[in-house]
Amino acid sequence: MDKRIFLSSPHMGKYERKFIDEAFLSNWIAPLGPNVESFEQELSDYVGSGGGLALSSGTAAVHMAVKLLDVTKGNIVFCSSLTFVATCNPIIYEGAEPVFIDSEPGSLNMSPIALENAFKYYEELGKSPKAVIVVHLYGQSADMDPIMEICNRYNVPVIEDAAESLGATYKGVQTGTIGKYGIYSFNGNKIITTSGGGMLVSNNIDGLQKAKFWATQSRDNTRYYQHSELGYNYRMSNVVAGIGRGQLKVIEDRIKKKKEIYEFYKSSFIEIEDIEMATVRNYGEPNYWLSVIILSNDSKVKPIDIILALEEENIESRPVWKPMHLQPYFEEYRFFKHNEEDETSVSEDVFNRGVCLPSDTKMTIEEQEYVIEIIKDLFREI
Ligand SMILES: *Cc1c(COP(=O)(O)O)cnc(C)c1O
Repeated sequence: MDKRIFLSSPHMGKYERKFIDEAFLSNWIAPLGPNVESFEQELSDYVGSGGGLALSSGTAAVHMAVKLLDVTKGNIVFCSSLTFVATCNPIIYEGAEPVFIDSEPGSLNMSPIALENAFKYYEELGKSPKAVIVVHLYGQSADMDPIMEICNRYNVPVIEDAAESLGATYKGVQTGTIGKYGIYSFNGNKIITTSGGGMLVSNNIDGLQKAKFWATQSRDNTRYYQHSELGYNYRMSNVVAGIGRGQLKVIEDRIKKKKEIYEFYKSSFIEIEDIEMATVRNYGEPNYWLSVIILSNDSKVKPIDIILALEEENIESRPVWKPMHLQPYFEEYRFFKHNEEDETSVSEDVFNRGVCLPSDTKMTIEEQEYVIEIIKDLFREI
């Protein structure tokens, strides 16, 4: 293939340029500006949160949420293990310790059983986490009812990392608006992108106000530059926010196309016993950000075979996230399995058997057919 097929690449609509032009014409290039406030308002309205704070990245948004919950040296924070490293790095930024929680086999998201076990373990030590960070992986919500029930019972606030799941719902409610704080990412590969950026959302307006203060270098309300607290340069620019406003107008189209991609893979692989699509649980509607297949334990074709065969044809695919508890940098931290009796954890098992397939909304039906044929061929050859 001459033209590369991507996992998930930026897909602009009709309006991004208009908002950027407005920024240029009014010379609102920086700092901040009207697009930023409008984007915050429009995104909050879309997800149904009390407010939003536009930031330079999803990671910055996680960092601000962690700081708002007073996470500090000596604290522990529970966090999904199967995720991208940006979920847990901010715990380290604040000098606290992550404790990793396994996935449940259905949604691949945080296991309520492992979560409960972690709470019990630390309760016996007289300790409690300062926060729990739940990830909504690959565009599907975690099972929030049992997770919230456990966290409420232990009186611990929840941060939702909805970086991958903007537009996905749990029992009719948008992911990112169920816990105390939610975060979204507009990185280049996400369902909508601003080229790079993030948003912190919450019903706690005072909290958002405080994060805004930190994110603009913690400038005191004085004529000269005075700082009584440590600050960060984390705000989104007015040009970037213009892209976000345009992208938000096409999010429903993007979700629709992502779902068609998922359904087409699903119907195409039905005849191949060794391929299973990652489960869509019936408690919500995903945004289908990435289509993930899980190969059976005794499949002769391995994830790497699929990845290399696709790469040969200039098609991008990738393994499932490597769990955080298996990362060299994080190996010293505790991990709680979904099933203590099992030798491997659910997250490690999915890492070994899963592949993220091209889920690019610019991909044509013919291109997707081509991807499917390459994969089917591998199973024919053996
Ligand atoms: C992309 C992503 C982030 C980080 O977002 P950035 O905008 O790239 O900083 C955080 N968590 C998860 C699960 C992600 O996939």
